[in-house]
Amino acid sequence: MTTSYLMNTYARLPISFSHGEGCYLFDSETNGKKYLDALAGIAVNTLGYKHPVLVKTISEQAAKILHTSNLFEIPLQEKLAEKLCQISNMQQVFFCNSGLEANEAAIKLALMYGNKNGKTGKKKIVVMEHSFHGRSIATLAATANAKVQKGFEPIVDFFIRIPFNDISAIQKLCESEHKDEIVAVMLEPLQGEGGIYLADSEYLQQLRKICDQQKWLLICDEVQCGMGRTGKWFAFQHANILPDVVTMAKGLASGVPIGACLASGNATNLFAPGNHGTTFGGNPLATSAALATISVIENDNLLNNAQQIGDFIKTELAKNLATVDGVVGVRGYGLMLGIELDRSCGEIVKLGLQKGLVINVTSDKIIRLLPPLIFSKDNATELVEKLTQLIKDFLQ
Ligand code: PLP
Repeated sequence: MTTSYLMNTYARLPISFSHGEGCYLFDSETNGKKYLDALAGIAVNTLGYKHPVLVKTISEQAAKILHTSNLFEIPLQEKLAEKLCQISNMQQVFFCNSGLEANEAAIKLALMYGNKNGKTGKKKIVVMEHSFHGRSIATLAATANAKVQKGFEPIVDFFIRIPFNDISAIQKLCESEHKDEIVAVMLEPLQGEGGIYLADSEYLQQLRKICDQQKWLLICDEVQCGMGRTGKWFAFQHANILPDVVTMAKGLASGVPIGACLASGNATNLFAPGNHGTTFGGNPLATSAALATISVIENDNLLNNAQQIGDFIKTELAKNLATVDGVVGVRGYGLMLGIELDRSCGEIVKLGLQKGLVINVTSDKIIRLLPPLIFSKDNATELVEKLTQLIKDFLQ
């Protein structure tokens, strides 16, 4: 490979894609080799590639205006905020450009909320084992992965980490010395990078109750599991709860960078001008792409699709792999699925590419599937067939 001028932040696979169509990618090397995409740019390309509504919207918007500034009113931003509140039942939105930025906004809201409640000294935010919240100085501290933190000491020390999906761990905190310092609990209702672990509905409901009793904010990081991926707009909706803060990004505009931090109840009206902001956040291009993405999800019934196609993939894979030695299990929800093996399996990604399949491995042993929400039954059948064979070959 020729010398790269890029910083060495990714162990990149030696392949680049030149274009895509629907749920397929085409590489630039072998002139047209086709790959079924079961990753969607890590849960980003909600509508797959070259979606006509998205292409038209972005092109028309580009011809009008790409960016103005948050110094001025941005009607598309207002419209998107209203739509997001409508589908989430939240009340206010702050727009940014990525998942970590949405989480930074959530963390700042929680700290501000502490101030409002007289907790101006020590403040603590409770986070979970296996969590991933980003790589900024605050969000890397909230993230449970030692590799993400290593070398960036001193690590921000206002996070308390507890086991995920374990209500007794939260109950213990209510008796602990930190009880009065805690301002919020932050979690992914369906953990992604950490290995596809789902919070039970009863757990989320009890957590909601405890947060209410203790006056702690409940923050749901839906950067990966939100935007329809689990068959509802947001994963927390499966548990019939309403968080105080919800963060999202990735799939929101189907590939155009945008993030959002949504607030309700006690988390509203905490910021005033000057407290928070970002230059690009919610610009006309990104907000038009997000509105187009939402309208296609609604018009094409993609929430239903995510649920049904996801169930099909999960059931078929579980059936095909039930007796295969080395497969620990298949889990997840909608189109956010994980197949856990009993060994490291990073290499299977390369084998997948050879067979024309784009998949991912997270947490060393978990094959992760995050296909576009437009995935069809034919796409799902092809994925199940290819992946079953791939896993069997890999484990031989
Ligand atoms: N939160 C979750 C749950 C994520 O999965 C990610 C990224 O994978 C982030 C936050 C960070 O998002 P970004 O990479 O856009 O900063």
